[in-house]
Amino acid sequence: MRINQSKMVISGLIIFLLSAFLLAGTESKALILQEMSWVDVQEYLKSSDMVIIPLGATEQHGPHLPLGTDFYEALGMCRMISSQTGVVIAPVLMVGYSLYHSGFPGTLSLTPETMETVLIETVEMLMKYGFRRFMFFNYHGGNNIVQKRVIHRINHTTESMAIAIGHGSNLEKQEDDEFFDWHAGKGETSIMLYLKPELVRMDRAKKPEITFSPLMKKLRELGKKHPELMEVWSSLLGVPEDTLKGGASHELSSNGIWSFNNPGEATAEIGKQTVEHMVKTAVNFIKAWQQIKGP
Ligand SMILES: [Zn+2]
Repeated sequence: MRINQSKMVISGLIIFLLSAFLLAGTESKALILQEMSWVDVQEYLKSSDMVIIPLGATEQHGPHLPLGTDFYEALGMCRMISSQTGVVIAPVLMVGYSLYHSGFPGTLSLTPETMETVLIETVEMLMKYGFRRFMFFNYHGGNNIVQKRVIHRINHTTESMAIAIGHGSNLEKQEDDEFFDWHAGKGETSIMLYLKPELVRMDRAKKPEITFSPLMKKLRELGKKHPELMEVWSSLLGVPEDTLKGGASHELSSNGIWSFNNPGEATAEIGKQTVEHMVKTAVNFIKAWQQIKGP
């Protein structure tokens, strides 16, 4: 009787420990610098020198998506990456370079120079404590140029290493991207329906009226025969109004959405696929890099 009882206690204990272990394995929490204490950071640095810095923006995303769309996307995906790899996230900026969206109210923008300085000074502080491997997860096209410069400066002037792992990075295999669904369109609306559905107003998700300048139209026409000319075409999109190229957001789009697709057709399922693909790509990369100890 007694033996049976203690057997039951032991097997119950094993089941409890096993389920606790499994739960810990599947539901580990994202590590966010702002939510940690200095003691946690000190402990973390004993086993890792990696940090992920999400880059987003605060800019118009059509009448149906919040201004913080890019920030929520970057942070949301970074949280998933962190919980699967144990790498800490340091959110630094909620504002990026978005001047060309400022024809729509609420858009904020830093100059590329300011943004670069903020990122570099933050990275220098992180290096002071022992962080050596920096991964930037950008989710706003306008930030790419700054991200490139910051990564170059880290790699060429410090002992640390830096790489881009987000949207548009070399890690990302170009999926069959629907043509010109660049901003707040079906693709991005789907991502937000998956990550932050409570902030999406589908009743306002209407197809925009897109207006290209005469030069853009000519380039698109010639681009059918000479696809390399589309490089020029895309360089005209997303530039400030002052450049007189007709490529500012409010000159191109009637409601701020840049897409030929109907954002009303967005679904959380499409968003889930995009997010899972992005997260998986970054996680695979980080796990491979984790096999090598830092510099
Ligand atoms: Zn966006």
